Amino acid sequence: MIKLEREVEPQGMIDNKLQWKSDLLTAITKYGSYKDIPEKEKQKLISFYRNDAVKSGLIKSSFGKCAFCECIPSEGGNIEIEHFKPKSIYPDLTFEWDNFLPSCRKCNDSKDSHDTGVEPIINPYDIDPKGAFYFNDIEIKAANNGMKKLAEKTIEVCGLNSVRLWRPRAEILISLRIFSRSIEEAIEELINADTDRKRANRVKKLREAIDIIEMLTKPSEKYSSFCIEFLEQSEVYLKAIQLVNDA
Ligand SMILES: [Zn+2]
Repeated sequence: MIKLEREVEPQGMIDNKLQWKSDLLTAITKYGSYKDIPEKEKQKLISFYRNDAVKSGLIKSSFGKCAFCECIPSEGGNIEIEHFKPKSIYPDLTFEWDNFLPSCRKCNDSKDSHDTGVEPIINPYDIDPKGAFYFNDIEIKAANNGMKKLAEKTIEVCGLNSVRLWRPRAEILISLRIFSRSIEEAIEELINADTDRKRANRVKKLREAIDIIEMLTKPSEKYSSFCIEFLEQSEVYLKAIQLVNDA
């Protein structure tokens, strides 16, 4: 999970959300509760937030990734518009831009109608998740700091430690280790350079190896927080940065 910045609210939402909300709340009054609105009528009343402007704004802000698990849903299904505070409990927030998150089907299903108003989890648009989690190999854990409870609840509610996320993390871990080995070899070559020319060439090669591994940490890359943490902990990478900076 990485910090995200909201895009500007689509004009169509600004122009219409009050009317849509009012129609939904009228139906709630008529039938007694949100869940008692006949399904067909309810689906029609709430359908308006599912539009292309909302979807593309959310996708842009999250680089096409799920806001929770950082997978790219388009690779295995569509991105879904998730209500951070569930619309079944907070129907007045059904059309609120700030209550939307782009989510994959798995995280959306896992979170279901968890009441974030009662048991909060991290909303990456509002809280910077940096430092809240760490990875033990391919498992995500809550860091032992002031955000521990929030992080634990987020892992539990969104299923961030489910086996479906272990496989892609394991695959990335292999790539990261392969890239680390290239860096290690480039360091070795640089240390053994015996002329200025060789040294300059090998610094260049090392810099290229660093650039390649750093590509995986870009916010647009899937599971980027996993890669960022790997590099922050990587002695080989930190040594390489030092050598390049000193050169
Ligand atoms: Zn997800």
